[in-house]
Amino acid sequence: MVPTEENKKSAGIISADIREQFDNLLAEPIVRKGLDFIKNDDKRRIEEQIQITEIPAPPFAEEERAEDFKRRFTELGLSDVYLDAEGNTIGLMKGSREGLKLVVSAHLDTVFPKGYDAKVTIDDKGVIHAPGISDDAAGLAALLSIARTLKETGIRTVGDILFVGTVGEEGRGDLRGVKHLFSTVKDVDGFISIDGDGCENIIYLGLGSKRFEFTFKGPGGHSFMAFGDVPNPIHAMGRAIDKIANISVPDEPRTTYSVSVVGGGTSVNSIATDAVMMTDTRSVCPEQLDKTVSELVNCVKMAVIEENTSLKIPWDSEDNIRLEIEKIGDRPSGVCLPDTLHVQVAWAATEAIGGTPQLELPGSTDSSIPINLGVPALTLGGGGKGTGIHSPQESFDPTDAYFAVQRVFLTILAFTGIVGKTDPLLPKNSGYKTPQSG
Ligand SMILES: [Zn+2]
Repeated sequence: MVPTEENKKSAGIISADIREQFDNLLAEPIVRKGLDFIKNDDKRRIEEQIQITEIPAPPFAEEERAEDFKRRFTELGLSDVYLDAEGNTIGLMKGSREGLKLVVSAHLDTVFPKGYDAKVTIDDKGVIHAPGISDDAAGLAALLSIARTLKETGIRTVGDILFVGTVGEEGRGDLRGVKHLFSTVKDVDGFISIDGDGCENIIYLGLGSKRFEFTFKGPGGHSFMAFGDVPNPIHAMGRAIDKIANISVPDEPRTTYSVSVVGGGTSVNSIATDAVMMTDTRSVCPEQLDKTVSELVNCVKMAVIEENTSLKIPWDSEDNIRLEIEKIGDRPSGVCLPDTLHVQVAWAATEAIGGTPQLELPGSTDSSIPINLGVPALTLGGGGKGTGIHSPQESFDPTDAYFAVQRVFLTILAFTGIVGKTDPLLPKNSGYKTPQSG
C-alpha cells in the first residue's frame, strides 16, 4: 500500500504504549548511563570511523574491511562472529529470551573503484575528508559504538541483536549482502540500517529500481560503401532513446526512467558493430515499476525492428541487428504506512534526543529488502553532516554526530526491551518468504 496524503497526516501520532516505553526507558538510570557513554565515546568513535575509512572497500572487494570489522566485533565480545558466504560480517549479542531478533547494520562497501586513495585528512575546522568517510564509515563506527555501549553499561536486552556489516549496498552491488542475509537468516523480526548522515531523517519506504544494459550488434561496415546495406546499431539505439524519452509516467506513485550511460562505435567513417546503453527505472509502486519497465523494453525491441526493416534486409538474415538484454540491477520497492509501530518508535526516539523527525522519500538502501519482505525496517542516519557523498571530495562534519548514535541506541532498546525493566515492542513475526532473486 502506498501512503496517501490522507494517511501521511497520521505521521507523528505516537501511541500510548510507545510513549510509555520511552518514558520508562528515559527514566532508567542504566539507559541514561548509556546515553552519556555514547556522548563520551565521541572521540573514540570518530577515530574508528577514520581507521575504517582508510581501509579501501571498493565494490566487490570489501574483504579487507570486512575482516577488520570482524576483528572489532570479536574485541567487543560479540558471539558467533563470522563472515558469511557473501562476505557480510556478522556478530551476535544474545538476548535473554529465545526467538526475537533485531538486525542492526551498516554497509561496508563504497562506490569508489579499486585503487582509490582512501587517505583521510582533517581540515582546520575539524571537517574530515576522504572518500567514504560519511557513506558509510559513519554508520559502521556508530554501530561499533552502540555495541560498546551495551557491553560497557551491562545493559541486557530481551531480544537478540545481530550486528551486521553488509557488502554490496551501492550501485552494481545491488544489495547483494542484505539479499544474502535474508535468504540465509530466516528469523529476523526487525531491521535497522545506519546509513546516510544526520540524526532526524527516517527512511521507512523502499524505492524499487530495475536497471538494464542493452547491447545492439550488427555486421558493421564502411560509412559510405556499406550505407544502405547494413543496419546501424547506433541508429537503432537512437531510435530506442527517442521512444523511451516519450514514455509517460505518473507523478503519483512517483515513477522515473533514464537512459544513463551510452557507448559504442569505433571510428567516424564506420558503421559501428555495436552500441550499448544502460537504463535505470524507479518507482515507489512495484506494479507501476513493472509496467514502465516492460514499456521501456518494448521501446527498445520496436526500435531494433524499425532499424532492421528500414533497410529491407530479409528478416532471417544474419545482417540484422541483434539485441542483447541484461538485467544489471533489481532492487525491490516496499511500502508501509507512516503510523506503523516501528516508524512511531523511530519518531519517538528522534524526539527523545531533541530532534525534529523527518519522514524521508523512499530510498534505495539495505532496508529495501526487509521492507519488501514485510519485516519492520528503518534506515537512520549516522549523524553529523556529509557533503560530496559518492565523490572523491566526500567529507564529514562530526559536530554533534553522537545524537544520531543515541537515537539508534534508543530505537534498539525500545524494540528489544531491557531485561527486568521493559518489554520488547517489536512483535515476533518472521513469516517472510525468501527474497526476490535479482
Ligand atoms: Zn550508504
